[in-house]
Amino acid sequence: MSSHKPRLVSGDTPTGRLHLGHWVGSVENRVALQDDYDCYFLIANVHAFTTRMERPLEIRESVLDIATDYLAAGIDPKRSTIFIQSEVPAIAELTFFFSMLIPYPRLMRNPTIKDEIRDKGLGDNYPFGFLLYPVGQVADILSFRAEIVPVGEDQIPHLEMTREVARRFDQLYCGVDSHTEDRDYVKNGGLFPVVELKLGRTRRLVGTGGPTPEGNLLKMSKSLNNAIFLSDDADTIARKVKSMYTDPKRLKATDPGTTENNPLWLFHETFNPDKAWVEEAKARYREGKIGDMESKNRLIEVLVALIEPIYQRRQVFAADPGQVLAVLKEGTAKANDITQETLRLAKMAMKQDYF
Ligand code: ATP
Ligand code: MG
Repeated sequence: MSSHKPRLVSGDTPTGRLHLGHWVGSVENRVALQDDYDCYFLIANVHAFTTRMERPLEIRESVLDIATDYLAAGIDPKRSTIFIQSEVPAIAELTFFFSMLIPYPRLMRNPTIKDEIRDKGLGDNYPFGFLLYPVGQVADILSFRAEIVPVGEDQIPHLEMTREVARRFDQLYCGVDSHTEDRDYVKNGGLFPVVELKLGRTRRLVGTGGPTPEGNLLKMSKSLNNAIFLSDDADTIARKVKSMYTDPKRLKATDPGTTENNPLWLFHETFNPDKAWVEEAKARYREGKIGDMESKNRLIEVLVALIEPIYQRRQVFAADPGQVLAVLKEGTAKANDITQETLRLAKMAMKQDYF
């Protein structure tokens, strides 16, 4: 049945646990789209090695953590497939072929790569494999011949590269005319659909910390110690919200504050279902008529209401890692079936099918 639905691929790097940025950027959409698409969710453990090659045990633990987070957040293994990237070799094989279709200067212009080098403090000594990971991501997606990818804003450059590789491959090896509309590539003989991206309702959730010296708010990220996790209990959420950055010029409750670029209010805008309260409270904040504590306490209520059910379900799955591993094993087998078929078809198109 499910094979008649269009395929959806998305995933996460096991560099920690899932946080609110993942939820609004991607996971919320993934949960909602499970009935309409044949869904594949990958845990990108190979890519975790790009920034923490010296910590394999941590990556291993994080693979299980992310899988547990998925199940707790509502990804249903009866409808969707969850798998481990390193155990699906066709992805690695396709990465090599696809790397030929991406000019090196094109890769170096990728703004997300530049941001990550800066924000993760990678300096100029990052491994070659770090530059390879966006190409690997192209293969993650194309190896399933996916049609849609729900992701956050930082993934736009990677997705654009994926679309370019799909067009290039289809033109070079499948004889698709370069004037073809993106949606017609497969209809006109291409192997790879030109994938569409689906951004979350908040494309880039900021972290709980303040701005950088340049005045930018960093995105919430597992690696930047500025995240509220889907596995945080109510006390932890309260502690994190209470210590959240707000407008430093606002010393007393009676000083007017700015709601622009202020994580507290950005969080209310994203998560508080009571829009009328948010607008009214923001107006009061700008006039110095509401204290940080009132809006923080409100935010704690809102976030606990969202995360608590996920947290409770997570406790159940976390108590049974054997069950989580069984889900991963079954999902990985299914991912191998599909990606091996793609690899076979890709090699045929590239005239490298010998035996
Ligand atoms: P890392 O710090 O290791 O890069 P991360 O927190 O950025 O981790 P990823 O695994 O790189 O998480 O991203 C997984 C998915 O979640 C991607 O689709 C990404 O766009 C989305 N995402 C991550 N952080 C955010 C955020 N703060 N806002 C919106 N979407 C996000
Ligand atoms: Mg990231």
